[in-house]
Amino acid sequence: MRKGLRSTDEVNARFGLNLEPSRYEVFIPNHINELIEKEGFDGIHAKQFLPSNQELHQDGFDDPIGDQQKYVAPQLIHRYDNRALFTPTTICPVICRYCFRKNELSGKHEIFKADFEKVITYLKAHTEVNEIIFSGGDPFMLSAAKIDFYLNEFSKLEHIKFIRFHTRTPASLPNYIGNEVIEVLNKFKQVFNDINIVIHINHADEITSDVRDCIAKLGKYFPLLSQSVLLKDVNDKVEDLEKLIYKLHDLGVRPYYLHHPDQAKGAMHFYLTQDEGREIYRKLRRQVPGWLLPQYILDSPDGSGKRNL
Ligand code: SF4
Repeated sequence: MRKGLRSTDEVNARFGLNLEPSRYEVFIPNHINELIEKEGFDGIHAKQFLPSNQELHQDGFDDPIGDQQKYVAPQLIHRYDNRALFTPTTICPVICRYCFRKNELSGKHEIFKADFEKVITYLKAHTEVNEIIFSGGDPFMLSAAKIDFYLNEFSKLEHIKFIRFHTRTPASLPNYIGNEVIEVLNKFKQVFNDINIVIHINHADEITSDVRDCIAKLGKYFPLLSQSVLLKDVNDKVEDLEKLIYKLHDLGVRPYYLHHPDQAKGAMHFYLTQDEGREIYRKLRRQVPGWLLPQYILDSPDGSGKRNL
């Protein structure tokens, strides 16, 4: 992380580019910069993580899935009856240029301010919630001690049975997940019914040997699922998705969600229409057996939640 790039100026200097200063945060860890150098600007790492002048176009929405209306406490979104999304950090292992939360995270909204007491107070009053989904930012950017603290607090609420982590860290900063984090999660495996890890990854070329090792390490102890976003010019070929699905399967990861891209301001250059997306998914269905097929879903812009496309 220390050797990562943190501004458009640093990106321009390293890659000999002439990009306009981005209005969004920039962070690309060294692991990914080396991959960009190896693959060139047409590679999937450059396309997903290098800032682009196309971000200056401001069509789209600040909050494309209606998250803001669903915050019930700082850092807690309650959209579905029995599960709540906990966003304990705004730090990410890389800043993805397609991120649907890019405007919220860059804007440093109040909702991201820590006030854990309010989270616990809300959950105590809502015993219908049986699952906490750690999101962010990226929850695996937290220290082992912080993860231990949160899991310990949630374990005191008897109605919380399931824990899920959504993370891009295995695919983007694989060496960051140390044994301490795995030890903490293992400790709580005895307490909760399940601890599931959902790995965010969009293309088979992201599965380098370090990424493979990290996934294998996590897969020894926890059920692994994957979530991908369909992105224009990144993974919008059926062959791309098919290859990703089979590679993940070889690593013991079950494809879970394929998200239709959200209409996020500053990320509309990744957007495809629903008709285009459906056509890709129809073809994918012919190539991949049902038990390996991720659900193709859209997060509704009105905040009402996911719907199947
Ligand atoms: S890791 Fe997730 S939250 Fe962070 S920038 Fe990427 S998509 Fe957004």
